[in-house]
Parts: sequence; structure tokens; C-alpha cells
Amino acid sequence: MSLPAINQEYLVDFLVKLLNVTSPTGFAEPAIAFVEKELSQFKQLELSRTRKGALVAKWNVESDQPPVALTAHVDTLGAVVKEIKSNGRLKLSRIGGIQWPTVETEGVWVFTSNGEKVRGSVLIDTASGHVHGAAGSETPRNDEHMEVRLDARTTSEKETRELGINIGDCVAFDPRVEVTNGFVRSRFLDDKACVANIVAAIKSIADAGLSPVRSAYFFISNYEEVGHGAAAGIPSDVAELVTVDMAVVGKGQESDEFSATLCVKDGGGPYHFGLNNKMRALAEKHNIPYKTDVYVFYGSDGEAFWHAGGDVALALIGPGIDASHNYERAHMDGLVATTNWIMAYLLD
Ligand SMILES: [Zn+2]
Repeated sequence: MSLPAINQEYLVDFLVKLLNVTSPTGFAEPAIAFVEKELSQFKQLELSRTRKGALVAKWNVESDQPPVALTAHVDTLGAVVKEIKSNGRLKLSRIGGIQWPTVETEGVWVFTSNGEKVRGSVLIDTASGHVHGAAGSETPRNDEHMEVRLDARTTSEKETRELGINIGDCVAFDPRVEVTNGFVRSRFLDDKACVANIVAAIKSIADAGLSPVRSAYFFISNYEEVGHGAAAGIPSDVAELVTVDMAVVGKGQESDEFSATLCVKDGGGPYHFGLNNKMRALAEKHNIPYKTDVYVFYGSDGEAFWHAGGDVALALIGPGIDASHNYERAHMDGLVATTNWIMAYLLD
């Protein structure tokens, strides 16, 4: 069989829109709701939510074989307001360990608990070159010295509180999405690229009038960046789980932006040998450009499910993402390869 064509315009358009929906872990509901709305057009899918807020889409088909599941996460790195300083600026507590130098001078939205949002930007507390001279480059980029300057008239804690801002409010960094020459440059391609891959695969299969060969669950997770996204919520009759998450690109890695990768082992140990070989065979059969790789500083939602006692065969595939957890970049070739791999897995 040959795989149905991918609507690449749809894939990029959906991805760009999703990247522009803010969704730091703990505040990912807008992105979950966005994906839910998109998937609701496919009448083949039964949609539900876990109590934790993850989205589950089931494509039910008649089959003697047990169902499979694919998972990807919409939550991203971010921060919350830790402290309102006496000068009205904000100290932050980071979500998912974002590295400070990667967001210095970035624009942010502060979302208040009453639904307002306030614009601002991240700066070092010795930002002015004319005030601090060389000290600006020597100041350590850490929780102590990084602050949010609000684009609102405030010079005191009281005035900032009067804007509706409170301790614990969500702070989302601008993704800065740009599409050029087949490259998609943005924060948080990890893992919105893979959510787009899953949605584009579902659309291609549905548009071609096809169905998966066995029932499939699509688990869109909302707490991955803190380690427990898919720990619960994948039904116990699921026999195989394919985690779709970014592949690591950089020095010493096999992965690149123009291929999809099968991760054989990461920081959490090896994946499932049998399912790995099944994924390799599917890639070979359908001429999908793929690499195999080992990731060092990496754990996945599939492993979260294993740690929580999930009894499934587990694999991890995904497109190569350059400069992950930094200012990331993907290429259409890697996104298409991953989408094709998902389709091959579902259809073959
Ligand atoms: Zn990820």
C-alpha cells in the first residue's frame, strides 16, 4: 500500500497557529482546547478529557488486534510569578527548567487569575548599559537577577498588584514563529511540531477515506515538561504506545532536521526492542528518511507511563529539532517524514 498524501500547507498552518497559543505546563488548557476544536471536525474520533485535562481522541475500528496509542504534548517551558519586587518588576519561578540566557530580552504575557493579560519583557536587573557598564555582561543570568519589566505604569509592588498581577500567575514567553525556505523557527516546536504531525496524519487518513487497521488512541498530554504528562490516562487495553516527541540535533547526535528519528535509548533507558524493529521496518518499507539515535538529557512521556506501571511496548519517534529548549528550528522534510511514519504505523 502507498500512504495518502500529506496536505503540507495544512500542516504548517496548523503548527503556526498552535505555536502561537500559549501553553506553559500547568496553563496548557488553551492549547488543549485548540487541538480539541481542530480534531472535533473528524467525526471518526471520539473525544474525551482526563481529569488532569489531557485530551484523548479514540479512532475506533473493528479489529481482532488490541488498540494502540500515540502521544505528544502541547505543554511548554514557561514560568510563574514568584515575587513582586519593590520596584514593581517581577521575579519568576521557571517551569520545566528554561535556561535564562535563551529568554533574555524576550517578550512575555503575564496571565492574571482573573483572565486579564499584561505585556512585558525579560531583562537582567543590570540591563542599562549606560547605568551599569560592563557589569551587565558579568551579572549571572539566574533566578535572582532576571526580572520582568511590565509595559504598564508601575514602580511599586502596590501598583503592580493593582494591575491584577499576583504570585503564581502564568508567564508565557513569546514563541517568535517564522517560516522560511521550508524551515520553521520557533520556541516550543518541542512538542507542538509532533502534535501537528499527529493531527496532519489523522487529516490525511480521513481525507483519503481510510481508517487505522486497529483502534487507535491519540493522547495529547499537558504535563510532559515536568515529567508526568502521560503517566495516567492511557487505557489498559492499549498494547503499544508510540511517543511522538522531538529528536535531538547537535554535536554527537545522528538526528537531523530533514529526517525522523527512532530513539533507541534516552536518559530513562532503552525503549522496546520489538516495537523499535517494527518502526524501522515500516520506515524502510515506505521509504521514510529516518535515523536511529541515543539521547542523553532526555526523558519522554512514554517513559512516564512505564514508570507509572503502564504495561505496553513503547517506542519514541520524532522530527529533528535544532537547539531544543532554546530558539528551536525544524524543517518540513523532518515533519513530513514523521507524519508519514505515523500514517504507516496506523495503516500498515
Ligand atoms: Zn518534548
